[in-house]
Amino acid sequence: MTMLDEFTHEPRVAYFSMEIALRNEIPTYSGGLGVLAGDTVRSAADLVLPLVAVSLVSRAGYFRQEIDAQGRQVEHPAMWEPQGWAQPLDAKIAVSIEGRAVWVGAWLYVLDGYLGGRQPVLLLDTDLDENRPEDREITHTLYGGDETYRLKQEIVLGIGGVRLLQALGFRIRQYHMNEGHSALLGLELLRRYAYPPGELRPGETPYDLPRVREQCNFTTHTPVEAGHDRFPYALVQRVLGNVVDLATLKHLAGEDSLNMTRLALNLSEYVNGVAKRHAEISNTMFPGYQVHAVTNGVHPYIWTSEPFRKLYDHYLPSWCHEPEQLMRTDCCIPATDIEEAHAKAKQALIERVLARTGISLNPDVATLGFARRMTAYKRPDLLFADLERLKAIARQRAIQIVLAGKAHPRDEGGKRLIEQLHGQARALEGIVPVVYLPDYDMETAQALVAGADIWLNTPLRPQEASGTSGMKAAFNGVPSLSILDGWWIEGCIEGVTGWAIGNATGTDDGDARALYDKLEQVVLPLFYDNQHVPDGWIRVMQGAISKNASYFNSHRMMRRYAAEAYIR
Ligand SMILES: *Cc1c(COP(=O)(O)O)cnc(C)c1O
Repeated sequence: MTMLDEFTHEPRVAYFSMEIALRNEIPTYSGGLGVLAGDTVRSAADLVLPLVAVSLVSRAGYFRQEIDAQGRQVEHPAMWEPQGWAQPLDAKIAVSIEGRAVWVGAWLYVLDGYLGGRQPVLLLDTDLDENRPEDREITHTLYGGDETYRLKQEIVLGIGGVRLLQALGFRIRQYHMNEGHSALLGLELLRRYAYPPGELRPGETPYDLPRVREQCNFTTHTPVEAGHDRFPYALVQRVLGNVVDLATLKHLAGEDSLNMTRLALNLSEYVNGVAKRHAEISNTMFPGYQVHAVTNGVHPYIWTSEPFRKLYDHYLPSWCHEPEQLMRTDCCIPATDIEEAHAKAKQALIERVLARTGISLNPDVATLGFARRMTAYKRPDLLFADLERLKAIARQRAIQIVLAGKAHPRDEGGKRLIEQLHGQARALEGIVPVVYLPDYDMETAQALVAGADIWLNTPLRPQEASGTSGMKAAFNGVPSLSILDGWWIEGCIEGVTGWAIGNATGTDDGDARALYDKLEQVVLPLFYDNQHVPDGWIRVMQGAISKNASYFNSHRMMRRYAAEAYIR
């Protein structure tokens, strides 16, 4: 018996992701993509789906964010000790990088589900004695370094991952690429299924491509062309060499440069986008491919705050395995219980804010939450577009605002936004309290999505492929006020589950005005004037739970991946 027998006795789906949010203490994620990967494995555990996740150990994490006195982001390595959480595995394999052998080992992290299930997660590591100092750092910093560093990481993830799974005795029936970062795995499979030289026919591909496609699935995550990794072939030739011949590679990944999305599309039988609108856009971006829609979801248990877990456990005991039960919330959970649970979650947020920033928020004041990656298309500054208007609204009905989010170290625009937000917060002092919680992570997200009264999202259409934090809010009875993009096109029922800012085709210039109007005329009056009446605010809280949380969860998402992608 080895410690892997429990996982290798049956064929599994191998789920590849560059980042994965396993727990708050393990900083191997940067944002929504990694949280989704974590929720995927958490749901697989709860539903007892045979899966194995493959990611990088990222010993230096993404980064720890500090904000200086001027409101500027300062980045620190987020070192963590794999030996504290995972077991080292004996197996090692080599991949060829820049013509030399780079050894890849792995840590086994076992993710324990909330219903007794267990899932293996392999965290790939090149920090081994066999390797040269620079190669030992390949798996150190998530999304760190330059293009060459990124390509090396993707070689370790895709090619190293497939080889290591085999060396460890895993039998893989399907591969799932979460975003294009891991698409090189398909090249390793092509090589595995190359026709023997005797069977080659002139003019035909030397690889059994249909056999590879049968085993591969690809989820794309961004509707923005620039968001897809591309590598110049000169770099690819130098760093990766010839895993498959260059003619085949160009045929699959694009003539001009190696486009990881193209490669994944061409190697996968099943392809999907992460919301209905995102799949439509992807179908237009990539004509000739069929891009299905599997709208994202979030894990029921980890994104529900303690007070709401207790409530659901009491009134809808099987909600954790079958979140569809939550659709009964309107009639089965007394309104006063929901109000009380929310008051507790809000108090917990207020205490956290006080402890972290020294600022006291008021439990009776409408609290807007906005937290996610800080980057231009997410428009965290939309709410602050017209400070006089915002002050006028707040003088009528008070508001307070809690913000959080990291900008990628090389995203100058995102970093400027953080600085601007701090300036705007100072300009609002005395009228609208604005708090910026540094170092956004899973734990801060848990507190924020549950403790805010209104969850705000203001992306530039159509760039929000899905968005998931509003779904987390829904599990805590917190309605969204959001631009109709990504999941919210499917989730928004006006005045029932939350509110839209503008309409689906709205112009972006009018968005700030539409936001202020909706806040001033609809949302805040309902919050303050109809707090405790049967058809008032509480109705929308119930709507968010019964109509959004019951559907936008990762159990539904995984049941769909299992039925539509993995079983074929
Ligand atoms: C959920 C989550 C995100 C993603 O939020 P979006 O609204 O989908 O952009 C990012 N970071 C953390 C820490 C999260 O928990």
